[in-house]
Amino acid sequence: MEFWYTEEQTENVRLSMKIKEQLYSRKSPFQQIDVFQTEEFGKLLTIDGLVMVTEKDEFVYHDMITHVAMATNPEIKRVLVIGGGDGGTVRELTRYSTIEKIDMVEIDEVVVIACREHLQQTACKLDDPRVSLYFEDGLKFVENKKDVYDLILVDSTDPIGPGEGLFTNEFYTNCFNCLSENGILINQNESPFYEHNAREMKRANTKIKNIFPICRPYQYCIPTYPSGFWLFGFASKKLDPIKDLDADRWNSLGLKTKYYNTDLHVGAFALPSYVKEMLDSE
Ligand code: SAM
Repeated sequence: MEFWYTEEQTENVRLSMKIKEQLYSRKSPFQQIDVFQTEEFGKLLTIDGLVMVTEKDEFVYHDMITHVAMATNPEIKRVLVIGGGDGGTVRELTRYSTIEKIDMVEIDEVVVIACREHLQQTACKLDDPRVSLYFEDGLKFVENKKDVYDLILVDSTDPIGPGEGLFTNEFYTNCFNCLSENGILINQNESPFYEHNAREMKRANTKIKNIFPICRPYQYCIPTYPSGFWLFGFASKKLDPIKDLDADRWNSLGLKTKYYNTDLHVGAFALPSYVKEMLDSE
């Protein structure tokens, strides 16, 4: 008998992956967490039935959430990751010896437990001495803090369930206050392709644009997310992701990356016309 995992990406579109076996299944107070061994994508983490990470394409997401900001400001020393319980974002950050402190705030400890046990590919650096783990709501964590981080990476689920608060004006304003003068915020900015994702993409972008002087969404292609075409938002107080990119300095670090490079960095900010129109119309 064959065993398939299916995600309903929209009411009319589904993505299925053939499964070898289910490795983990637990309902936490926040959400349903499952890990599967797939035939094509290696291990797969799902939350509430939605794809979060697969071993085969996680490099796209984790390269793009991390290296764009790090190449724009190589002086980043204090980083906050919100969500990111699989550990992939922390893994990429730990590759920079210049980073002194990484705080990760994950609302659901069960995600970290599941990934430490079954997704070592991403969870492998959670014990780095620079990393502190906090199991609480990211929305609360950023309240009443001033100038404590140079970079905030919002590695969240979609704006439903516990992730909802991470797409609000209140949250983005608190992030602005938490950041230093050269601070950068990168957020999971959804996708322009299917209507329900596009709505959230526009809403998030409008809010951030009203709070941060610089707001520039950028794209990445990831096979297992709906439509394969997704955005991160780059927002900052001062630094421009293209004008301030120091490509030579980043390349001199000699970091080997499978998706990110400094040519792609520039190209990722060139958006298709329909996406520009959507963002401009807000
Ligand atoms: N790469 C993923 C994606 O976009 O599909 C994100 C994966 S990561 C596992 C998302 C994490 O955000 C989840 O583990 C979830 O528990 C966490 N999360 C959701 N809402 C949160 C909140 N309010 N505060 C902190 N973490 C939150």
